[in-house]
Parts: sequence; C-alpha cells; structure tokens
Amino acid sequence: MATRIYILRFPAETSNDPMIYQLVKQYDVELNILKADILPQREGVMILELNGPAEKVKKGLEFLKSSGVQVERLAAAINRDDEKCFQCGACTGICPVGALYIKRPSMEVIFDPEKCTGCSLCVPVCPVRAMEVSPVSSAFAEAEEKTVV
Ligand code: SF4
Ligand code: SF4
Repeated sequence: MATRIYILRFPAETSNDPMIYQLVKQYDVELNILKADILPQREGVMILELNGPAEKVKKGLEFLKSSGVQVERLAAAINRDDEKCFQCGACTGICPVGALYIKRPSMEVIFDPEKCTGCSLCVPVCPVRAMEVSPVSSAFAEAEEKTVV
C-alpha cells in the first residue's frame, strides 16, 4: 500500500467533470481531500492524499494526467525539527518505507525526505513532536499562486 500526497491542478474545461468520482470507482483507490478550491469556469487546485496498491495509484494518476490534470507530488509535507529531535529512535519502527532509520555504528537517527511518502504515521509517535507536517495551507497557497485564474 502507498500513501502519498499530490497537488492536482485542473484546467477550467475539466472543472465540471467527475474525475475524482471516476478515480475512486475505476481505479479503486482511497482518497482524502485535504484542501480544494474548484470553481466553475476556472482552474482549480486540490490537495489529495491517495492510498492504495502502488500500481492502482499509478494508473489512477495516469488517468488524471491523460484528462489534462497537472499532477505534482507533494514531497516536502513532512519535516523533522532537528532542534527538538533527541534521537530516541521511537519513530524508526513505525515508518513503512525506511525513511527514518538508525545509522550504524553511530546509532544516529536519520530522516531521508526522499523516501518519505508523507503518510504521517511518525508524527504522533514522536514524544517531542519533532516530526511535523508542513502546513498544507501554505503549500496550497503556493499552488494557488501558480494557478492562472
Ligand atoms: S511521514 Fe514519517 S512514517 Fe511516513 S514515510 Fe515519512 S518519515 Fe516515514
Ligand atoms: S521519535 Fe522524535 S525524538 Fe525520537 S528519533 Fe524520532 S524524531 Fe527524533
């Protein structure tokens, strides 16, 4: 199973198409709409969390792209505050993709943002809340700025 967050930019001519409905029905992916601003007769922006087998998520994204939707992975949704992190290692057991791991022999806890899927499982596990979800609102504002209205 993969959990990833994407920014979707819908061209104005697709704003009335039920693409998200089709994504669920045809490609059997679970989704969570984190933020959306889809207005009739203009471009829209949506931040979407997709869950499902990697192959189905991939096919669903291909469907969106073939329909004219710009799809961009939101890779920087999770950050670690290194000032807060005291290297306890509690987060390393929960990360499903090995983005948090203990480097040996130094026993340093490493966070690899390149591997991170943004699933957020590590956030509640950290006793000092060093793992932070980047405010989606600011990412959304950035995405909206890029959108021609
Ligand atoms: S959000 Fe946390 S648990 Fe999820 S993949 Fe990223 S580092 Fe691992
Ligand atoms: S659980 Fe928090 S404090 Fe412990 S290693 Fe992970 S990020 Fe650092």
